[in-house]
Parts: sequence; C-alpha cells; structure tokens
Amino acid sequence: SFRRMSEFTADTSHELKTPLCAMRGEAEVLLSKRRTPEEYEEGLAHLVERFDHLNRLINDLTLLSEADSSPVRLEMSPLRLDLLVQNIGNLFQVLAEQKGILFEVGPLEEVTVLGDKTRLQQLLTNLLDNAIKYTSKGSIKLTLEKTEGTAVVNVKDTGMGIPKQEQDKIFKRFYRVDKSRSRETGGIGLGLSIAEWIAHAHHGVIEVESELNVGSTFVIRLPVLIP
Ligand code: ADP
Repeated sequence: SFRRMSEFTADTSHELKTPLCAMRGEAEVLLSKRRTPEEYEEGLAHLVERFDHLNRLINDLTLLSEADSSPVRLEMSPLRLDLLVQNIGNLFQVLAEQKGILFEVGPLEEVTVLGDKTRLQQLLTNLLDNAIKYTSKGSIKLTLEKTEGTAVVNVKDTGMGIPKQEQDKIFKRFYRVDKSRSRETGGIGLGLSIAEWIAHAHHGVIEVESELNVGSTFVIRLPVLIP
C-alpha cells in the first residue's frame, strides 16, 4: 500500500504539472506582445476552460485520496434507482444529440436501492460521459432491470470499444487505453476508478464487455433494498 501511495503521488504531480505548464505557457504567449481585446478575450476564455479541467481533476483526486485514508461517509437513504437513471438520462440525451448520437433510455424497471444519491449520480455520469466521449456515431442505450435481488444498470454504446487485453486495466487510476485518444477529449483516467469505488461502496460491482470498433457495455449491479 505504501508503494501504491507513492506511485499515486508521483502520478498526481505529473497530472497536475501538465495542465499547469500549459496554462503558464498560454499566459506567457498572451503577455509577450500587445494584443487586440478579442485576442485577450479568446486567450482568457481558453484559460478558464483549463482552470475548470484542473478543478475537476483536483476534485477527483481529493475524493480518491479521502477514500484511501478513511472510510468516506455516505449519505445512505432508500431511493428509486429508476427515477435517478431517468433524470440523468434526460441530461445526457441533450449532450448525445448535440453530437449526433442516438440516445435511448429504457426500459427502466421500478427498483429501490439503499444508496447515496449524489455518489450514484456521479457513477452514472462518469459512465455516460465516457459513452459519449468514445462514441462518434451510432447510439447509446441506458436500461435498468431487476433480477434476483439485484438492480442491473446497462450503459451500452456503439463506440470505439476497448481491446480485450486492456479491459481489466481501465479501472486503475490514471489508466488510459491510448493516451492520445483520451488526452484530446480531456480524459485523465480517473473516471472509472471513481465509478468502481462508488459501486463497491454500495456493495455492488461494475463490469465491462467490449469489442474493439463495435462498442462497449458497462454493467452496474447493486443489491436492491425492497425485493
Ligand atoms: P478517462 O478520463 O481517460 O476517460 P476513465 O477512467 O473514465 O478515464 O476511462 C479509462 C479508459 O477506458 C479511457 O481512457 C478509455 O480509453 C477507456 N474507456 C472508458 N469508457 C469507454 C467507452 N465507453 N468506450 C471506449 N473506451 C472507454
């Protein structure tokens, strides 16, 4: 665990340095000579985007390091998973359609689980974010069914897929299948580690089935509260 911790610190420093260096570089270019108000505006807007990215990165890192050092307090209450999935689905529908991807929600069976609403929202958000990021054409389908005391959420996309030999590694921190393909989409390789941590914290599991250039299905299984 000590080795894991120091690796984590080294990776973290590296991941923080990259956007910081880029931001400094952009600010220096902006300052290197007098510019038009439009150029300043454009430069600052770009910097704001980078700040947001850095902020998300720091939030993700804070969550993971808290999870490492002490049990994170979850606000557990009975909640209708189908309604939560529907709400998140509505949000992502807009994003998918903007990208020209068909987005289908349902069927959603009525299921109640004991869960932390914010964390479960984050879990679904991370999976849907990826489905949109790594799908350039086709469709995304979000479903929920109840089988033998287990709630099963499926997030299925027709995106670029994940090679077989990489499938058990994608849940590792900072792991990206192909650094170039996710760097340009702003990925830092923490989304799935967080998703897995949240599933485990709910006594659930998360699995992936995927075929390169065909698509991926992420499956979340959570115990139901009221069978
Ligand atoms: P990232 O921030 O890079 O997206 P994640 O932890 O969310 O980090 O995902 C890890 C890697 O798994 C990604 O870099 C990507 O290569 C791969 N991946 C995750 N979801 C999908 C998906 N739906 N389709 C294809 N590849 C995916």
